Amino acid sequence: MNWTQMLDFDRGHIWHPYTSLASPLPVYPVESASGVRVRLQDGTELVDGMASWWCVIHGYNHPVLNEAVQKQLHKMAHVMFGGFTHEPAVELAQMLRDLTPQGLEKVFFCDSGSVSVEVALKMALQYWHAAGKPEKTKFISLERGYHGDTFGAMSVCDPVTGMHTLFSGFLPRNFFAPSPGCGFAEPCLPEHLEKAADLIKQHHREVAAFILEPVVQGAGGMKFYSPEYLNAVKQLCRQYDLLLIADEIATGFGRTGRLFACEHAGITPDIMCVGKALTGGYMSLAAAMCTDRIAEVISSRSPGAFMHGPTFMGNPLACATAVASIQLLLDCDWQKKIMFIEQELRKGLESCIDLPGVREVRVLGAIGVLEMEDMVDTALAQKMFVELGVWIRPFLNLIYVMPPYVADREDVAKLTQAMRYAAENI
Ligand SMILES: *Cc1c(COP(=O)(O)O)cnc(C)c1O
Repeated sequence: MNWTQMLDFDRGHIWHPYTSLASPLPVYPVESASGVRVRLQDGTELVDGMASWWCVIHGYNHPVLNEAVQKQLHKMAHVMFGGFTHEPAVELAQMLRDLTPQGLEKVFFCDSGSVSVEVALKMALQYWHAAGKPEKTKFISLERGYHGDTFGAMSVCDPVTGMHTLFSGFLPRNFFAPSPGCGFAEPCLPEHLEKAADLIKQHHREVAAFILEPVVQGAGGMKFYSPEYLNAVKQLCRQYDLLLIADEIATGFGRTGRLFACEHAGITPDIMCVGKALTGGYMSLAAAMCTDRIAEVISSRSPGAFMHGPTFMGNPLACATAVASIQLLLDCDWQKKIMFIEQELRKGLESCIDLPGVREVRVLGAIGVLEMEDMVDTALAQKMFVELGVWIRPFLNLIYVMPPYVADREDVAKLTQAMRYAAENI
């Protein structure tokens, strides 16, 4: 098959994320990728602004990660986790326990971010069941939140962008607080918290947990909010006996300038999800972590076991890669790298606020966002970006980047210049 035939087949038979098969958005065939560059089949090289959806923090085709995969591959690619354990899983669990906020002692490995959210929701439900409050079966989450595409996760995603009406016959009904109105550097005033506090006060008897993305709301709108808000929600959860679930799948492993975004507020959630950058973007792996108390209570009452166990749980290849990726992160001066990218993103994007059509410019850590007044035509913008030699994929009214941490000054400048050009010309 030549490339025209392959693309024809792709158009005719393969679903891509959130696309129609009747009129699919165009896709670009990739030949290889290395560092911050993605090489298309026709030889075009693109500076990657997306880190393949937050994952590829060290860049593509990294020698250290390649070696970790190969080394593990020669031992075993996979072995079931029921009745077996192995060094990569134990090592990774130790690292996660040491690096995540103090108190998250127990680790449940699973296949993807969405599944880890399912696991977190299930942990909360089983906790209350065992604690003698089986009526606590609802969740509170934030408008503009995104927690994944499986049904439990969808039920706590923003009800509008999460397409709740489409699945309303099946989806559990939960409660939604407004997206926090206080920006990252702003104080959280009583008015910012009022609606969330009201929901908690009104419904706490039937609510198992409050679930949110700490500090950065990602796929639901690329919004940054005040760590004080996170802190206040934590206090309210404590006061009204709700668990707090922090979804760090997008924010984890340095992206916001802290290793985990919860650190901005200095809080430990009861349950925390990690995924995406966990393996440096090499393969799908996630984890739901919890405190001793959650695990003790779940284990204290029938059935005693936590009722989940995916086939590829603790996959050795993925765990070994994650260990290597985290070690690589710790060994590089990651804070300095993120601060540098933050500074370069600010330099390149701040003046875009003066362009007509740009509503807001936001930068935090290695995330840069142009929020436009109007929806951006993804196919058109994508074509423009490819012609400019960058890979940036807008959604809704957002043109944003979160490059691999290895991006240098020129790479970031190329990305921000392309964003400015798109904002001016689209
Ligand atoms: C991407 C994402 C998920 C879902 O993870 P998948 O691996 O795509 O299932 C959940 N929560 C957040 C915050 C995410 O960014």
